Amino acid sequence: SSFVNQLSNDAYDDDDLLKDPVEKVEAVNCTRLPGIALPQNIFGEWQNSQGIDLNDRKILLETAHGVNSIEFTPEGGDAVHADPHHPSGRSRAAIEASRTPDADVHDAVTRAQAAYPEWDSRSIEERAIILERWADLLEENRIELMGLVVKEAFRSIPDALSEVREAADFCRYYAVRARKDLSLKELPGPTGEYNALKMEGRGTWATVSPWNFPLAIFTGQNAAALVCGNTVVAKPAPQTPAIARRVVDLAHQAGVPEDALALVTGGADVGAEMMSDQRIAGVAFTGSTATAKKIAQTLLVGEDRPIIPFIAETGGVNAMIVDSTALPEQVATDVLNSAFRSAGQRCSALRLLVLQEDNADEMIHMLSGAMDMLQIGDPGDPATDVGPVIDRAAYDKLMAYRETMRPRWIKTVEVPEDEGLFVPPTMISIDEIEDLNTEWFGPIVHVATWKAGQLEDTIARINAKRFGLTMGLHSRIARNADILRSQARVGNAYVNRSMIGAVVGSQPFGGEGLSGTGPKAGGPHYLPRFCAERAVSIDT
Ligand code: GLU
Repeated sequence: SSFVNQLSNDAYDDDDLLKDPVEKVEAVNCTRLPGIALPQNIFGEWQNSQGIDLNDRKILLETAHGVNSIEFTPEGGDAVHADPHHPSGRSRAAIEASRTPDADVHDAVTRAQAAYPEWDSRSIEERAIILERWADLLEENRIELMGLVVKEAFRSIPDALSEVREAADFCRYYAVRARKDLSLKELPGPTGEYNALKMEGRGTWATVSPWNFPLAIFTGQNAAALVCGNTVVAKPAPQTPAIARRVVDLAHQAGVPEDALALVTGGADVGAEMMSDQRIAGVAFTGSTATAKKIAQTLLVGEDRPIIPFIAETGGVNAMIVDSTALPEQVATDVLNSAFRSAGQRCSALRLLVLQEDNADEMIHMLSGAMDMLQIGDPGDPATDVGPVIDRAAYDKLMAYRETMRPRWIKTVEVPEDEGLFVPPTMISIDEIEDLNTEWFGPIVHVATWKAGQLEDTIARINAKRFGLTMGLHSRIARNADILRSQARVGNAYVNRSMIGAVVGSQPFGGEGLSGTGPKAGGPHYLPRFCAERAVSIDT
């Protein structure tokens, strides 16, 4: 820890940081920030839990108050099915069926537009309080939500818990930011002139969210748009409609008017219909780079179509650089977490590990040993580290790629046989940093090396991929941390820690270049992106 102190002191001494004023931003009342916890420490409770029984479609939870059993029958019917023989074998037919009634995009936009003037006319305080109530409801219903996340998205129990927290954090954080950032700013002028700047909703936003954070990102996008006075037509990923439906119910229960947050479910066709609807006033999207480009193109079509804001958070070919001063045990822990947690299905996940040549072998040895300890299996088992990937298509794609790289495998591990879509965590060697330019969205990490004295050059080569989401460094040399901080062209740089798990209010999250248009979710500049800024000047 003395090194960490040293590092941060040095970092603050750096001329680069000091030449401009520094503002220390206070913590907001978030569940994950120090001093504030969920009403109960449910993670502790889980240690005694009997886990989630996928076959019975029940969650059995042994808490301090006895055994609770919670049934999942999400509204809208039998949306979540776990096939007894395949933890990852949801019934697609059931999900299809539950999706149909929501798919009328035109009607949803009409309703959301009609709801806009009334919602936008409410006070910021009123909308902020509704977000806070939404956060409370997310926490109150946390067990059911976690169960849905595990069952519908196959996320592990710790991941599901983090999602509930992050979703609630987004609501609380944006409530606080709204009060601060959206208030009317009275501006100076000569005597007899009144100047002010207003932040208002823009109209109806379209939000499109991914299956990898079906609860947190879905909630975050919509909470941000709503608190600014916008109404929303929200489309969750086709793999995770039941979670979204439940979150929307809770929003309505918290006081968001029914039509101000309208859900549409379905795949790319439904998304395309939303994007071509000329009444949409803004788009917030999290998903693949390819889809973001398609959306951007669609938004330009139509001679009279207004030019609207597009917030995109896409993928990355995220690298972590390790120098020879790094602590191997810490590197092993952080690499495992960054590359394999959530089965590697995070935009932030580590894809390319770049080891300093001098002790690369030692690091690989340590990592291989650590990989043997990964528990792979049923996501409903609290002991599981790595669950299945999201669906058959993802599984087939990842397994085919992994197979083509077989001659380059450094390490792979066994997975349960015949039980779901488990992609074995795998470490693959590549010759050059330039050899990896595709985001493989699963538990596969590539390893390259760099030579002492070439840190700047190594960072430049990673920047040249033009993805810009996360980059990591493990080093005990403070100067190297400065180099990373000043030269990495990424939204989120991480030193001596894992590269995943950005915390709302502490690590605003989002990338640049091929990784997105830049706005940072959970950061102090996010909300204005959803607003119309209107200046008024009156000769009094
Ligand atoms: N915010 C998440 C993290 O820091 C990643 C979000 C994503 O995968 O889209 O791990």
